[in-house]
Amino acid sequence: MSNNPTILPGELFIASHLGFCNGVRRALERVQQQINSQKPGQTLYIYNEIVHNSFIVEQLKKQGVQFIHSLDEITHPAPVVWSAHGVPPALDRLARTRELIIIDATCPLVQRIHDLATEHCRQNDLVIFIGHQRHPETVGVLGCGPVHCVSTPDECLQLPAPDAEQKVVVLTQTTWCADDIAEILAVLQSRYSSLQVLSNICYATAERQQAVQELIQQHHIEHLLVIGSPNSSNSNRLCEVARHHGISAVLVDDPTEIKLMDFSRRPRLGISAGASAPEILLEQALEILQTQHNYHINRG
Ligand code: SF4
Repeated sequence: MSNNPTILPGELFIASHLGFCNGVRRALERVQQQINSQKPGQTLYIYNEIVHNSFIVEQLKKQGVQFIHSLDEITHPAPVVWSAHGVPPALDRLARTRELIIIDATCPLVQRIHDLATEHCRQNDLVIFIGHQRHPETVGVLGCGPVHCVSTPDECLQLPAPDAEQKVVVLTQTTWCADDIAEILAVLQSRYSSLQVLSNICYATAERQQAVQELIQQHHIEHLLVIGSPNSSNSNRLCEVARHHGISAVLVDDPTEIKLMDFSRRPRLGISAGASAPEILLEQALEILQTQHNYHINRG
């Protein structure tokens, strides 16, 4: 029930696929299992953010977890977790030489990209990766061998020509936008007479992007809220999908920000959540939209 009967009711539609994916769930379970089995006084380190969500990172810090960006921050043998985005193989080797206890929470779908990159670099193929240069997933894949990363169609024009006999293979970041990949692939296909595309965005990213398209096409939403942190690639891509269709979209890291948002034009709202956004944040957002902005919630 609305607490604000003076405002005309609005309609809010929830995406049919949203929130945690299996890779995020698995990574968080690994961390929690390790926290539960830690020896008294032992510190648990996580290399990079376990998943890109500030609420989760803060909750883990409260449990004593330390987030690091260099193994030099660990001064004695201790457990260290590889995030769901994976790490370059050289970092894994270095951790082993330092006798750290590795808890590998790399998503299996990211690990598959590493395996493909490693195999095709070994075969001396020209390996192209479509992804964000500085995203941890990209850093991990680029560490598998001489992989060329492109983020825009223009960057494809700088790629080298393959040697005779060299195959051209293309891999993609798991959380990229399907429409952007199609644009880049079109340029690559015009540049290379033959190429093999060996990976695409993961099922979770694809489902969440598809669900946003459904909100637009079936429910005619006019504005989209995406629960997710600014550094979450898949959450940002959900906003981009909406914008590609001419729908405004905003990323919401902290649902209390919604209290101050202006919905006086009463747009038909859609809401989604990135693969690393916990359900508690979605429920908090829905509560605010219902009680303070008088939105009627349409669940699936
Ligand atoms: Fe794995 Fe995809 Fe989830 Fe990333 S978004 S953790 S690749 S399932």
